[in-house]
Amino acid sequence: SPLDQYLVFGNPIAHSKSPLIHRIFADQTAQALNYQKYLAPVDGFENSVRRFMAEGGKGANVTVPFKLEAFALCDSLSQRAKCAGAVNTLRFLDGVIEGDNTDGAGLVRDIVVNAGFSLKDKRVLLLGAGGASRGALQPLLMQNPKELVIANRTLAKAQELVQLASSFEVIHTVCIAASWEQIVGQFDLVINATSSSLQGEALPISGTVFGENCLAYDMMYDAQLTPFLAFAKKAGAQVRDGLGMLIEQAAEAFYLWRGVRPETTNVFKQLREGAIE
Ligand code: NDP
Repeated sequence: SPLDQYLVFGNPIAHSKSPLIHRIFADQTAQALNYQKYLAPVDGFENSVRRFMAEGGKGANVTVPFKLEAFALCDSLSQRAKCAGAVNTLRFLDGVIEGDNTDGAGLVRDIVVNAGFSLKDKRVLLLGAGGASRGALQPLLMQNPKELVIANRTLAKAQELVQLASSFEVIHTVCIAASWEQIVGQFDLVINATSSSLQGEALPISGTVFGENCLAYDMMYDAQLTPFLAFAKKAGAQVRDGLGMLIEQAAEAFYLWRGVRPETTNVFKQLREGAIE
């Protein structure tokens, strides 16, 4: 029988590492599948998805700028996709489109499992209030940190996320919105979920936010340290970029589609070393 087909939809998409990651997962778990990238026209996302489904596609990942459109076109949504308000993983079942969001789970897994950093009773600073920050919100809060401060250039968007957090059940974390100037005290974990590193810019925050044994995490990844991580390292923090998050969100999607959880440690090593392209 022909291989099960998967795509990642994005625009741009040329530099996506997802096909490589899923190829390694498929080899490792002996799953018969084919995963390709697909450049969807900015105004043609829904058509592209429906055509792929009609051709027999089994599922897809969705990246910039289509995660909100993906959310809107799903017939059913997982709890975490609803909380995130965005979808990065689609599964097609008998013409029904199911939506999930694995980004936040991938982030938390990379921090807690791979970096061995427990969030329980910690003070966490989340920088940015866009889609990535929103997707991380519920998975982060489920780890029971003591406090979560969400700081953003546009304060109103941080306030919206705090409002959203208050609608989640069984959360004991104090959740506060702040502008850059309003950030006070020291944190155990500082996450950069802004796209400032993409623009090669640092953030206007004080080096004093990084407490003792602090982990600084940038959702962006690069061969070089991002401006945010370079700043954090100088301030004495331990640093980690978003490569692990990327791999873990992919593993979570793979598990959803195939029912097998791939091993990620070696994939991380291979991609970090740039051993394969
Ligand atoms: P959005 O466009 O939804 O949000 C961007 C956020 O960054 C907003 O909070 C915005 O603030 C802020 N921002 C943008 N430019 C600046 C700047 N120059 N100074 C300060 N703040 C700025 O983007 P996403 O949330 O989707 O993505 C954010 C980052 O996360 C990207 O770098 C992306 O690559 C990364 N990411 C990584 C993933 C991974 O698997 N590793 C998965 C998903 C995302 P304002 O509200 O004021 O505009």
